[in-house]
Amino acid sequence: MSENIVRTNFIRQIIDKDLESGKYQSPSDIHTRFPPEPNGYLHIGHAKSICLNFGIAKDYGGRCNLRFDDTNPTKEEIEYVEAIKADVEWLGFKWDDLFYASDYFEKFYEAAIHFIKKGIAYVDDSSAEEIREMRGTLTAPGVESPYRNRTVEENLDLFTRMRAGEFKDGEKVLRAKIDMSSPNMNMRDPALYRIRHESHHQTGDAWCIYPMYDFAHALSDAIEGITHSICTLEFEDHRPLYDWCVENAEMPHAPHQYEFSRLNIEYNVMSKRLLTQLVSSGFVDGWNDPRMPTISGLRRRGCPPEALRLFCERIGVTKSENMIELQQLSQSMRDVLNEKADRRMAVLEPLKVTLTNLNHDEMLTIANHPQDETRGTREINFSNTLYIDKADFQEEANKKYKRLVLDNYVRLRGAYIIKATDVVKDENGDIIEVIAEIVPGSLGKNVEGVKARGVIQWVSAKDAVDITVHNYDVLFTEKNPQGMPGELTDYLNKDSLHITVGKGEPALLDAPIEEAYQFERIGYYARDSKSDKLVFNRVVELKDSFGE
Ligand code: ATP
Ligand code: MG
Repeated sequence: MSENIVRTNFIRQIIDKDLESGKYQSPSDIHTRFPPEPNGYLHIGHAKSICLNFGIAKDYGGRCNLRFDDTNPTKEEIEYVEAIKADVEWLGFKWDDLFYASDYFEKFYEAAIHFIKKGIAYVDDSSAEEIREMRGTLTAPGVESPYRNRTVEENLDLFTRMRAGEFKDGEKVLRAKIDMSSPNMNMRDPALYRIRHESHHQTGDAWCIYPMYDFAHALSDAIEGITHSICTLEFEDHRPLYDWCVENAEMPHAPHQYEFSRLNIEYNVMSKRLLTQLVSSGFVDGWNDPRMPTISGLRRRGCPPEALRLFCERIGVTKSENMIELQQLSQSMRDVLNEKADRRMAVLEPLKVTLTNLNHDEMLTIANHPQDETRGTREINFSNTLYIDKADFQEEANKKYKRLVLDNYVRLRGAYIIKATDVVKDENGDIIEVIAEIVPGSLGKNVEGVKARGVIQWVSAKDAVDITVHNYDVLFTEKNPQGMPGELTDYLNKDSLHITVGKGEPALLDAPIEEAYQFERIGYYARDSKSDKLVFNRVVELKDSFGE
């Protein structure tokens, strides 16, 4: 989808100013990173951050790292690491360097020792609960810990022994010594290290103390020479701590943090923690269930990466929190798929049509795309027994009905005009077959005196393949399920998957997985990756009918 969106946003404007002012000499000095925690699969919110960070590096000719923020072994897994890499690549981005925050554990440790020696960090024996109580509130200052004035020697000794594994989980923490009465709660002696006797997916059992997010994140950015560290608004209040860590670690390079608003989309949740619950409860078929707002779910559904990138460009990057309409995502998919998806024919409620004046089969050549010749053609056998969709035939109808009517004409897509001459009904009076004839000379041509009401799709009965179609609805019944009272599960849409069996043209046998086709007049569909049978997921409808 070629679209001229002016690629600017407040972060790019900051970068431009930093270049103008000489803070950075060359656009190639601009260095960003995408720092996911490998505690789940990425969602569309992450796609926004990926497009922003990698997009900046690409457009400025700078660099962008993929860095796993793997400082909490309890929730992290190698499966997530691999899935995240695959998702970033699928979205169309290449990282300059791949790092793990755990690569820097030794450096973090040295920085912590440095802090202790400077007298700005101390080991605290208080329990987590005591620390919480001493922290104060937004209106009341905190209370200094009784361990706050330990000597440097004592702190060094205790911290070394924390690393050596002499203490149990929660027995001690290393805290920054900042200001217990700071109006910013994050500055009230935040924890820098905690004890966790747990194996780590990268470092195994080498460590039993793990650094806290703010400390590790700031130092990782500084170590990698990140210039613009972009994160979501909830970290705005953490920026003073970020700066404090960078400054006191006395790194040669000082990154700066900028915050933008998170992406929220109607009828969805954007949080790995909440999405995990849907997976573990079995409500969805894994992280890549096509209903999930995950990158892998969208991929399995058949959403092309271009569509997700287009969506991210269209929504832009700002500092104001808002809820994006689901329609915007659907429209980006349609805009891309209308251009790039090949057409195929399928009927979901087959009605037999017998052509009485056709006594031989005919191979027809049909274009894959009505506007784009470069997409080539395919051969389809046309025979005297076809299926059309039940909804495409009526015995009587007014002029608005642009389909097949008894004693009237309709064009079969890529084939002949036919005229319905009779119907066969079962004992209940339901139509089970339409008798029709082709108009000779009407293949790809108009015929004098014959006016087709419209164009409908068809499949040849003996050549058609059985297909199963999965039509999806939204996962949640509320626009903002997280903002509702009660449990998230109260708002799950129990009717979010509709399965239909139909007939498709034989070319669908070769449909590659996850590649979307337009099933003419029905919608965009892509072959499912989990089934060996011909199962097609609906990527998106042809038109927006949501809420009708
Ligand atoms: P989650 O709650 O889903 O785990 P997170 O922010 O904790 O989200 P991280 O893995 O830490 O997830 O995030 C990696 C990057 O993606 C961060 O820079 C984060 O700010 C960004 N990000 C996460 N969610 C969104 C979102 N909804 N919109 C935009 N960016 C997001
Ligand atoms: Mg997180």
